[in-house]
Amino acid sequence: MRAPDRMREAVNVSGRPFWDDEIETMTPDARRRLEDERLGEQIAYDYATSPYYRSKLDEAGVRPGDVRGVDDLAAIPFMEKTEVAASQADGTLLGVNQCAPLDRIVRIQATGGTTGQPIRIGLTRRDIEDYGEMGARALWAMGCRPGEVVFECMNYNLYSGGLSDHLTFETLGAATIPFGVGHSERLLTMMSGLADPFGIWATPSYAVRLAEVARGLGLDPRAVGLRKGYFSGEAGLQVPGYREKVEELWGMVARDQYGTGELGLHSGECEALDGVHYGGLGFAVAELIDPDTGDVLPFTEGQRGEVVYTSIRREASPLLRMRSHDVMQVFTEPCRCGRTSWRFRVLGRSDDMFIVKGVNVFPLAIQTSLMTLAPQLTGEFQVDLDRPPPIDYPVPLTVEVDPDVPESRREALTRGVVERLQRDVNFTADVRLVGPGTIAAEGKTRRVIRTYRGEDR
Ligand SMILES: [Zn+2]
Repeated sequence: MRAPDRMREAVNVSGRPFWDDEIETMTPDARRRLEDERLGEQIAYDYATSPYYRSKLDEAGVRPGDVRGVDDLAAIPFMEKTEVAASQADGTLLGVNQCAPLDRIVRIQATGGTTGQPIRIGLTRRDIEDYGEMGARALWAMGCRPGEVVFECMNYNLYSGGLSDHLTFETLGAATIPFGVGHSERLLTMMSGLADPFGIWATPSYAVRLAEVARGLGLDPRAVGLRKGYFSGEAGLQVPGYREKVEELWGMVARDQYGTGELGLHSGECEALDGVHYGGLGFAVAELIDPDTGDVLPFTEGQRGEVVYTSIRREASPLLRMRSHDVMQVFTEPCRCGRTSWRFRVLGRSDDMFIVKGVNVFPLAIQTSLMTLAPQLTGEFQVDLDRPPPIDYPVPLTVEVDPDVPESRREALTRGVVERLQRDVNFTADVRLVGPGTIAAEGKTRRVIRTYRGEDR
């Protein structure tokens, strides 16, 4: 891999196709050798520095030297975020997976997310450098280059999406403006005062909201100069029509990014728009498992499964078979952009998945189907599982309807939604239409509520 210092040399790098040519075009065999070697080192380090990891391996009867490669991971039990959260509950700063002493840790941030407790994560200087490297690969794939001006409009408080991702844009060489969240009118005043085009790092729904604020101020969003959108934090751009909507609103190019609080910003989509390139090569390895049985699935073209991450170059808070509860479909065939890294499409949270008569249903698939009926529907919806599995009954589904749809047409629309979902997602819904604003909460909306388990709406 290239040394970080060389990457920051003031040569004209913008014409390069990749951030890190060597690693991003590696053959599968070379990649596997690198991963196996680093995994061995990481396991030995974890075992030597964390009593938690030591007892995990000991209990499984695995000695560090037994793990010679990724294929040997299956012998080690999974790790859950809740284990780390529980170990921090008594005030312990970093908890069970802390592997570096505090005098080598220079940053602490927390994971966010819609489910579960946040956990605190430590980073050493080397962890931070690696974070920047990994993220720069993703942002480069997304089309970001030195010389660009980017407004960062993520939350800088606590979460990696703010400060750490900001520094990742800096690692790449983009001129990054630390704007943060809120103050949309001030943001638009600043943006519309700039003569040259610029980009934004935000959630896709913020780009939609910002366009509304612009119009409220009498500004034409397309005249503002926002030409590139680097988006993260929501599944928005994967919903058919959403990317086009955002691009159309601003006259911009919109690209999707994926990361996790525990690993950082690690993956971005290239110009081929054929899945998100995994950018964590050499830093973390991924396995695919069946979320119900925990069985490891083959990592092959088109395979679907829950992703499990293991750090292979992490000092402060390494992960060892950490269940992400994100279900993905992976693509291992080469991409036409020339990168050899595997790509993926996020299908949803395994916690949000429910099974109707043997069919796995994800909220994203429901949303995708509902969006085909826009603008009559807003795309907002909520599933209310009121009886425990097996789900062999019509699934109660609340769907928001556009206010312009007259009362007289709602019955037909309800039938249309049921038919559409039957065809696209293969289950029968008990649909109830409600007015706009009934479902959408500030921030992220929960799509599946299990009232049979006592969950509140
Ligand atoms: Zn590509």
